[in-house]
Amino acid sequence: SISILWFRRDLRLADHAALYHALKSDYPVLPLFIFDQHILDKLPKDDARVTFIYQTIEDLKRELQQYGSDLLIKYGKPEKIWPEILKEYDVKGVYTNHDYEPYACERDDNMAEFLTSEKIIFKTYKDQVIFEKNEILKADKTPYTVFTPFYKQWHAKLNDFYVEAYPTQKYLKNLLQIKHLPYPGLYEMGFEKRKLDFPKISYQNKLDDYAKKRDFPGLDGTTHIGLHLRFGTLSIRKAVKDALEAKSDVWLSELAWREFYMTILWHFPHSASNSFKKQYDKIKWQNNEDEFKAWCEGNTGYPIVDAGMRQLNQTGWMHNRVRMIVASFLTKHLLIDWRWGEAYFAEKLLDYEMASNVGGWQWAAGSGNDAAPYFRIFNPELQTKKFDPKFEYIKKWVPEFGTKKYAQPIVEHTFARERVLKVFKEALSNL
Ligand code: FAD
Repeated sequence: SISILWFRRDLRLADHAALYHALKSDYPVLPLFIFDQHILDKLPKDDARVTFIYQTIEDLKRELQQYGSDLLIKYGKPEKIWPEILKEYDVKGVYTNHDYEPYACERDDNMAEFLTSEKIIFKTYKDQVIFEKNEILKADKTPYTVFTPFYKQWHAKLNDFYVEAYPTQKYLKNLLQIKHLPYPGLYEMGFEKRKLDFPKISYQNKLDDYAKKRDFPGLDGTTHIGLHLRFGTLSIRKAVKDALEAKSDVWLSELAWREFYMTILWHFPHSASNSFKKQYDKIKWQNNEDEFKAWCEGNTGYPIVDAGMRQLNQTGWMHNRVRMIVASFLTKHLLIDWRWGEAYFAEKLLDYEMASNVGGWQWAAGSGNDAAPYFRIFNPELQTKKFDPKFEYIKKWVPEFGTKKYAQPIVEHTFARERVLKVFKEALSNL
């Protein structure tokens, strides 16, 4: 008889809620990871995140082998894989961490039903956030839709208890002793290996100057840990604890933005694909495909926009200030539906997080909860003057900037501004 720990977006052994509880169960623990076809089938074959996950999973497997155990790795659809596992092993309990995106919630509801029907315990734990779902609510028990009061309560509630690490190390001896389980190759699953430099978990040296540097894309002032929070190679409790110790309040509040957007998505799942404010679905987007292509490729003739898109295409990451500028440009200057931009980011960002991405895009389009009013339109030139005054960032990503080779602006700023104001006003006139 065994317990199973099902890894999903929590790919580490240290400070892991579900692993800790599994190890304290009555049975030895077999760790499992499923390469989920429902997710993989939608991704391009050269998706860099799949390479990152694959490498991380192999590391995890090696680490578990050092404890005399192994990682069971499967490829397929969870609803097909699980009955097979139950035939192979005498499973008494399944332990896993909460997951909040719409697909994951549905998958776990189905799992709960299936395992219960098989008389197997299914236990899930909070792990990827400090406060989840219904832990931060207004006095009337409804969710916050504005960040500042959310954060006030989030911060007031935070104490040592919530950042204490789960001492999994002490119990790793309770892993199932098993040898050399075979596993599928990356190519067998239809993916290519991408050679990208994935960011390392090393942010301590950034925290002191974070507040001063974070808004300037030419300075490497942010921590690049999004990818590690996304796949759980870094525990959020550790990150928050480090923020508190370094007294880096601004960085702490950024970690809380992540939870704010997760809470919003959990309470308002429609906002994944519809405007949070319904009236914004009436906007008559222009959706010009050639202009969209120029934006994707970084050929709009607006240097700060092009620099951002090229950074994204080449590295899988873009600076936050520039994410705001390119998102505003796509929706306001080019009048292209925010969902097109959201989907492009979803495909390219290593740190892609549905809640934050949808939140960021709806904020830029003006359709989100707590968004900038629609008439506030970023002026790319002024943004450049303020945040990249010496064109350091622009020159790095757009080498032809300032030469004749550089593209002409795809649209004139004043014209674009007046056009978007008219279109938005028409859609929202009955507010
Ligand atoms: P740091 O500045 O060092 O911050 C540390 C961590 O805090 C980040 O890794 C992230 O987990 C969290 N964080 C910081 N800012 C935000 C924010 N505004 N909202 C939510 N969480 C935040 N972030 C994602 O993690 N995934 C996305 O898919 C994503 N899409 C975005 C799309 C748009 C249009 C915009 C405007 C922002 C988006 N963001 C997204 C938020 C933000 O840009 C990134 O989190 C940040 O740039 C990542 O870089 P970093 O790891 O160096 O962050």
